Amino acid sequence: MMGSEKTYEIGDLKEPMQNINIKGKIVNINLRKVSNERGESVYHYGIIGDSTGTIPFTAWSLSSSLKAGDVVAIRNCSTRDFKGTIRLYIDSSSAIKLLPGEEMEVHRTSATMKIGQLSRSTPYVTVRGRIGKVYEREFERDGKKTTIYSTRIEDETGSIRLSSFGKMLEEGSEVEIQGARLSEYNGSLRISINENSQVTRTKLGIKIGERFLDISSISSPVGGVTIRAICISMGEKSGLLYRCSECNSKVDEIRCPDHPDAPIKYDIFAYFTMDDGTGTIQASAGSRAMLEILGIKEEEFNPQNRAINKNMIRERLHEKVLGHAFKITGDVREQNMGLSMRGFSISRISDQDITAMTLEQEADFQ
Ligand SMILES: [Zn+2]
Repeated sequence: MMGSEKTYEIGDLKEPMQNINIKGKIVNINLRKVSNERGESVYHYGIIGDSTGTIPFTAWSLSSSLKAGDVVAIRNCSTRDFKGTIRLYIDSSSAIKLLPGEEMEVHRTSATMKIGQLSRSTPYVTVRGRIGKVYEREFERDGKKTTIYSTRIEDETGSIRLSSFGKMLEEGSEVEIQGARLSEYNGSLRISINENSQVTRTKLGIKIGERFLDISSISSPVGGVTIRAICISMGEKSGLLYRCSECNSKVDEIRCPDHPDAPIKYDIFAYFTMDDGTGTIQASAGSRAMLEILGIKEEEFNPQNRAINKNMIRERLHEKVLGHAFKITGDVREQNMGLSMRGFSISRISDQDITAMTLEQEADFQ
């Protein structure tokens, strides 16, 4: 058998290390499929921890029955640096043994991070920011009433959805949240506050203006970011689409199968690639963001207007969007294809702005 008999504590792991043994509790575990020229393969990723700390892991040979809360002993695993954080790798030469019934307390390290830098590899974080509009609702758990406060928190790098279970949040206040739990839902990151998190009022005096990000620096699905970039290609499926005015679903024909009497309404789906010189990102937008750019007034955008049809919208998309520079504000989401941006506000920027943008980028390399 390879490797030593020593079992490392997770808080003592460094990188790189080979043939090490650890014992820990799975804090969370996710499955991902990747396709390449050799076909499709599957791997797991997540967080494992013990009383000394937590570490993200990637596992290419893991039983699919493992779940969060399981305590396992892993032999012959290794560590390496991955994008600046140390990561545990489990492969076909590793051996994993489930330890049923074993209890383990996990020490939840929570690093202080800017909202724009949050990623799935840090399940517990400390963030500081300003609270947005707060929505309250009550729910009952174990016969006890709790209030959930839903809002967004933002700093100068981004904004993220936030839910607080029981702890009151006030709109416009600036807070530090220690031990917030980070999770992913529908491709977007969100954080939550529970009984183990600490919320402190602080005075940050953060200036939240437009958060221009280089596309190359976008590494996680955060919200409320702005890019300035040029549209370099327009997706095939972009164009005019029909929706049922009753249920809002997209309909292929001229009526909805569920509501044949309901009139249809127009919408736009635009799917395109943006390039800012540092990288590219897929972006999409609907009619609310696109109409003004296409030079169409909202009151003209309806099926009664004969001037508007699929060809006309496709032509306008090519004429007014492709090859032009825009400022896009939106939410970054994680989907099967990687990160993409859903734009909720798009405006043309001038040639001067593009020159300024290029000069800024050049200055970074001098
Ligand atoms: Zn319908």
